[in-house]
Order: sequence, then structure tokens, then C-alpha cells
Amino acid sequence: MNPKINLGKFSLGMGDRFAHQAKAQLQACVLAEKNGAHVTPVWNKSNREHTIIGSEPASVRAAAQKAVKELGWKKPWHIDADHIRLETVDKFLDSSDFFTIDVADSIGKSASSEAIEKFLGHHPELVGKIVIPNASDAFKVSRADAERIAAKYLFAVQEAGGIYRHIAEKKGDGKFITEVSMDETDSPQTPPELLMILAMMAGEKIPLQTIAPKFTGRFNKGVDYVGDIKQFEKEFNDDLAVIAYAIREYNLPDTLKLSVHSGSDKFSIYAPIRRALQKFEAGLHIKTAGTSWLEELIGLAEAGGEGLKLAKEIYADALDHKDELCAPYATVIDIDAKKLPTREQVSGWNSQQFVSALRHDQKCKDFNPHFRQLLHVGFKIAAKKGDRYLKMLESCEDSVARNVTTNLYDRHLKPLLGL
Ligand SMILES: [Zn+2]
Repeated sequence: MNPKINLGKFSLGMGDRFAHQAKAQLQACVLAEKNGAHVTPVWNKSNREHTIIGSEPASVRAAAQKAVKELGWKKPWHIDADHIRLETVDKFLDSSDFFTIDVADSIGKSASSEAIEKFLGHHPELVGKIVIPNASDAFKVSRADAERIAAKYLFAVQEAGGIYRHIAEKKGDGKFITEVSMDETDSPQTPPELLMILAMMAGEKIPLQTIAPKFTGRFNKGVDYVGDIKQFEKEFNDDLAVIAYAIREYNLPDTLKLSVHSGSDKFSIYAPIRRALQKFEAGLHIKTAGTSWLEELIGLAEAGGEGLKLAKEIYADALDHKDELCAPYATVIDIDAKKLPTREQVSGWNSQQFVSALRHDQKCKDFNPHFRQLLHVGFKIAAKKGDRYLKMLESCEDSVARNVTTNLYDRHLKPLLGL
């Protein structure tokens, strides 16, 4: 089931909310290449981001194309229609060659009992003791477990199949990269669940190249991982073992790999991820988005003058609209309102004070993760400033671009790839 467009082994999803950082982002991949690591750049933007900002999918491709030309990038690159569903996919069809089919909302809706019976009838190997090479332990799945897992996920996977076929009808079979995401849901998927989900994907004939499960622990926006790192490492290793097994067993594309959503800034799990990838010789897609928007703010603050003034104004407005900005992200942020600086405090800050509070440097005593998370969800405020914000990005381009590149390369690619 190998598709015609294959995603590179290691790929970096990047979000460019205001379509001004594609070149600075691509520069991080150029640096990796110079240091011997091949990183495929993927620009992702969800329907939710387009709606908040008021942008169109074609703008993502245009910005990427310009960056690719300016930097003379000769290797593959892709445009990801992130978190699309049947009702939102159509406007992405022309400009995207990568589709993240989001079926998280359908998890728990049950498929027909005939479909569940049929699936379990086809897969007697998924019940009992399942020995997966290189997994930490054999999986023990009872018939009741298998029925529960099928009832929980089969409908969602059937829906992913429907959306895949809708895209394939328009673009041609295998002429795009298919990801399925299940991360925006309440409970994580365990490795045995992932195995059954992959068998279902194969049954739907989805040429799946990346899958984004929900992992154990919290993946808050723009800040470090919160959870049991040992448990994460064990499950991540088992997920890789499951994927390698499912590729062979169910004839899924041999490029199939994990996609880590909200993957930016999870510094404490990068070393465990790197060890696991090395052990399994596996690839990875790591999806980032808002981390680059925060670097825009850092760049504005670092430039001082009007740039710093606008960054402070955006914070003051974000504070005024805190509840409204946080509501859509309630499950992926943890902000303690008491630890947020007041607008008066921030208005007295110099460049260095603003930058130290915002930049994700855990060794810096002035770093404030609450301040950072509020600004992470505050991009709507910058969008409302319209041209004034965009012009400021242009006049502070040097400091903004430097921060965007450094963040992706030094804090993300280097630890993930061991550069
Ligand atoms: Zn996601």
C-alpha cells in the first residue's frame, strides 16, 4: 500500500500564523542539512487558525513557495491541511499535499454491531496474548477488551476512510500524504489500542503515513511536557514497536511513523524520543505551530522602541480578554492567573525583562510559563491589529527571524536529532 508521495523520515511541522516566517523557519532545516541531518519541512495550518486569523489556505503555500525559492531549497516540502474534517477539507484541496484527518470527535461513537463483528472476525490475532517484537511486554487482550476497543474506535476510523476517499477522489490516489489525528480527545490511546486502530486503518485502505495518537501526560501549548516521563518513554517505545509490526502485518506504507502534535517545547521528552527513534531506526513527524508566533513577539520585544511597545500592548489586551482567549484551549493550557504579571508591571519592563519572561529558557529565573501560555493563545489579538502588526514584523525582521530560526534549530531540532 505504498503511496506515490512519501514523507521523509524526519519531518518538522511548522505553523506560520501570519505568513511572515516561512523563510526563517526553513532556515532551521537548512542548518540541519548543513550538519548532516535531513529534515523535511511541512507548513501546517488548521481551519481553526485560518478562521481566527482570517486567512485563506492558499496563503500558506504562497509563503512557503517564496521561502523555498529565496533559500534555494531543492528537497521536498509539503503543505499540511491540519485537523480537517469532511465539512472543512474542500477549501484546502488545491493548496495542500498533506492532509491531517481529525476524527477525535468521533471516538466513542459506536460502529454497527455487524461492522464490529466483522472486524473482530477478520482479526483473531488481535485477541489473546500478542507478542510484538521489541515491545516491553506481550499485550494481553481479552475478547471483551477487543470488543470495547473496536466499539470505541471503529466508527472514527471508518469516518477517516470516508474523508480519505473524498480527498483521493479529487486529488488522485496516493498523490498526497495522509495523517490521521486522534490527539484532541480526553484519554490517551495505549499501545494495544494503537495496534487495533492501525489494523482498522488498513481495513479502510488508508495509505497512512503518520498517525497522531494522544500520548500519556499533558502537552500544554508552548511549554514543557507535564507527566510521568518514564511511562511516556515506555509507551512511546511500545508505540514504535507496534508501528513497525503493523507495517509488516497489515501491509501499511513503510513510511508510516508517529506524529507528535503540540510537539514544540516538550524539552524533557526529547531525549527519550531520540533514544527510542535510534533504537527502532524509526522516523518522526513533530508538529509545532504557536512556538514561532511567540518568537515573533520575542523578536519585537528584543528590537525595543515601537516593537517592544506593541508587544506590551498585545499582552495588556490578552489580559483583558483572558477568558475568551483561553476557552478554546482549556484542555491544553494551565495558567495560574495569580502568577500573571499585571499590565502596569509589564508596561515598566525593558526589552530584556519582556524577553526573559517569555523565552522558553527553563534555566532563566525570570521565565514565566503563565505569561508564555497566555500569549500563546493570544494570537487573535495580534490578528486584530491587522496591518500594524504585520508592518511591525517587517520592520523588526532581523530580530524576529533570528529568534524564529534559533528556537526551531537550537531548542528543537538539535536535541531531537542529537546534532
Ligand atoms: Zn493536534
